[in-house]
Amino acid sequence: MSQAKAYAARSATSPLAPFTFERRALRDNDVNIDILYCGVCHSDIHVAESDWGPSEYPVVPGHEIIGRVTEIGSRVSKYKVGDLVGVGCMVDSCQTCPSCQQNLEQYCDAGIKGTYGARDMIDGSLNHGGYSDHIIVREEFVLSIPEALDISKAAPLLCAGITTYSPLRHNGVKAGDKVGVIGMGGLGHMGVKFAKALGAEVTIFTRSESKVSEAKQQGADHVIVSTDDAQMQAAASSFDYLLDTIPVQHDLNPYLNVLKVDGTHILVGLIEPIEPALHTANLILKRRVLTGSLIGGIAETQEVLDFCAEHNIECDAEMIKIQDINEAYQRMKKGDVKYRFIIDMKSLKEDA
Ligand code: NDP
Ligand code: ZN
Repeated sequence: MSQAKAYAARSATSPLAPFTFERRALRDNDVNIDILYCGVCHSDIHVAESDWGPSEYPVVPGHEIIGRVTEIGSRVSKYKVGDLVGVGCMVDSCQTCPSCQQNLEQYCDAGIKGTYGARDMIDGSLNHGGYSDHIIVREEFVLSIPEALDISKAAPLLCAGITTYSPLRHNGVKAGDKVGVIGMGGLGHMGVKFAKALGAEVTIFTRSESKVSEAKQQGADHVIVSTDDAQMQAAASSFDYLLDTIPVQHDLNPYLNVLKVDGTHILVGLIEPIEPALHTANLILKRRVLTGSLIGGIAETQEVLDFCAEHNIECDAEMIKIQDINEAYQRMKKGDVKYRFIIDMKSLKEDA
């Protein structure tokens, strides 16, 4: 066992605060990772605050982890001490069900074993994530960080990156397609970059007038202010795909209306019932598709890291100290983030 320093939420309403706990002893297929950077995902807030039903506390969030290997188990073959590695949203799966066999561990029949909030498959202990000084993960769930990536900006690729890359690839987005990305936060801004890299014509849908002027810098071809009905109406029946990253319940009907015949609305943000109700005419009358997507498998997560290294794609990040995490959450809830907070984990050492 090793003692870990971390920040944790003790209840749905308490701010994150310093917390120490024991990490498990290294198993023979485990890698011990000294955490350098950890991205801040809106899912961290959802789980810390029990938005998706009661969480098990304490919650140590963080599933966009970049670090260096400090120790390996006796059977580890992929990594050695000193390697730069990443850990994303999952740390285990059954490895035998049809989904796992197809490199789709996120859809494992035994359920997704999240980096935090889930229980370890072997000893049943509660998993704790990346807002901590180190983490121990079985090697199959550890990613290799390409040298070409700027490690201070790479962490968000492990969730925001793969979550937007995977559905664009799976749904077959290609050159010339018209893609709308809804919500310009951590996921949305990566979605814009990937859709552009795949050759699509990209439109950002945002509520925030302040993000309009920056949209072009983000690589978008067009911007629609989603609160302006006239702009939404003018876009009717013009999109092939929508990638929807809004983190709360919202009306899908005006968005479905901007899709062409056979257009596809991909949900990644909403993990709740649809409210207000969806009018099925918006699907049936144009044979539109409403679908969803959960992160991506381990092989595809490695693919997105390599894709970003090759295409020079990086996250736009604001570096913070762990002590600023509660303020960062408040800003994210207001949509005030450009476009991902990353925690410099050496700040943990500043706490007495
Ligand atoms: P962020 O907070 O970084 O960004 C979300 C963006 O959505 C905001 O910047 C804002 O964009 C828009 N938004 C926020 N609140 C509202 C609102 N009330 N109404 C309309 N638009 C709003 O979140 P992330 O990008 O980190 O995460 C987005 C969602 O995706 C979260 O729910 C998260 O849990 C989920 N997620 C899902 C995954 C999956 O596998 N499916 C994996 C990772 C995350 P703007 O200001 O431009 O309107
Ligand atoms: Zn995430």
